[in-house]
Amino acid sequence: MEGISVPFNDLSRQTDIIRRDVLAEWSTILEEGLYIHGPRLELLESELSQFLGVDHAIGVGNGGDALEIALRACEVAPGDEVILPANSYAATAMAVLNVGATPILVDVDRKTHLIKIDAIANACSAKTAAVIPVHLYGQMVNMTELHKLGKNANIEIIEDAAQCIGANQREAGIGELSNAACISFYPGKNLGAFGDAGAVVTNDADCAHRMREIRNYGGTVRYEHRTLGRNSRLDELQAAVLRAKLPYLKEWTGERNKIATRYSDSFEALDWLDLPVTADGNDHVWHLYVVKCSERDQFQNHLANQGVQTVIHYPHTLETIPGVELRHPINVAQQLAEDILSLPMFPGLTTVEQQHVIHAVRTFEPSRGS
Ligand SMILES: *Cc1c(COP(=O)(O)O)cnc(C)c1O
Repeated sequence: MEGISVPFNDLSRQTDIIRRDVLAEWSTILEEGLYIHGPRLELLESELSQFLGVDHAIGVGNGGDALEIALRACEVAPGDEVILPANSYAATAMAVLNVGATPILVDVDRKTHLIKIDAIANACSAKTAAVIPVHLYGQMVNMTELHKLGKNANIEIIEDAAQCIGANQREAGIGELSNAACISFYPGKNLGAFGDAGAVVTNDADCAHRMREIRNYGGTVRYEHRTLGRNSRLDELQAAVLRAKLPYLKEWTGERNKIATRYSDSFEALDWLDLPVTADGNDHVWHLYVVKCSERDQFQNHLANQGVQTVIHYPHTLETIPGVELRHPINVAQQLAEDILSLPMFPGLTTVEQQHVIHAVRTFEPSRGS
């Protein structure tokens, strides 16, 4: 196994499966010359809502836009506060800042890395307009509890589901216990476009209508602009890619699941390594397989020397973003940022490569007593 190098992700492997279908569709699109607001977006939206079991799916430009459009549709505005976990991708906080509201960071659970419901309850104020639970790494925040809290406190819930398409919790999926759920089709996500794309899904018909208007300069009828909107469209070329990939998503998620099980079984005896924990009732879709090690940087160097590429999601908490205020302790999130490491995880990762990753991890020798 010497000399093998394992990439963190290799998108070309899933592309091989759908290349012919996509090129055929793209060729038709070029002949027809209809690039925006075409039939493929409508088909994708209905296939997506069917796949996810929600009433409405609305294609948008990217995952960050999806969050911003959902916040606007819920009328989150300057003066409002929005509660979110301290450990997410920057987009979650920036969407809040971009609508003029204030992101309020709260701490997360050390085992699941997910936002803590009691920390949300503590952070609620008269100005709290919304909460954004981030379904980090591919598993969902406890939506039953959060839904209850939201109802009692009269707070909107907008799910950041960028990393968890296809995940479920006790038979309920995303968009069922919230105002809306936001999806990213960034190429590296579980369902990735060949560029930028995203979607919002909801069971609320009014919210769906507002989001359709906002993504298209404030109107769904040409030259009628009833509200303040912007341009955030999902074009036909990307819709064709996503439609070609969607039928494979279940299979690809199954592959991720197998890799995660194999990793976890192989690392069980390593007392210096903390493994990912799946919360009760969750079907995890393993966007990322994230371990914790108190000597993370040495561990990452060791893996790099063995040809195993790893990434840190994320090396900083969101407190480093200008405009974000820190009012509550986020000790767990800060500690996680020091300890976490994401191992190679993608459909198409071969058995030999998985074996190499496992071997590389097992041969790390932590300096005891640290
Ligand atoms: C990827 C991601 C986003 C943003 O999606 P883009 O399509 O890149 O704009 C938002 N939140 C989380 C948690 C993400 O992982």
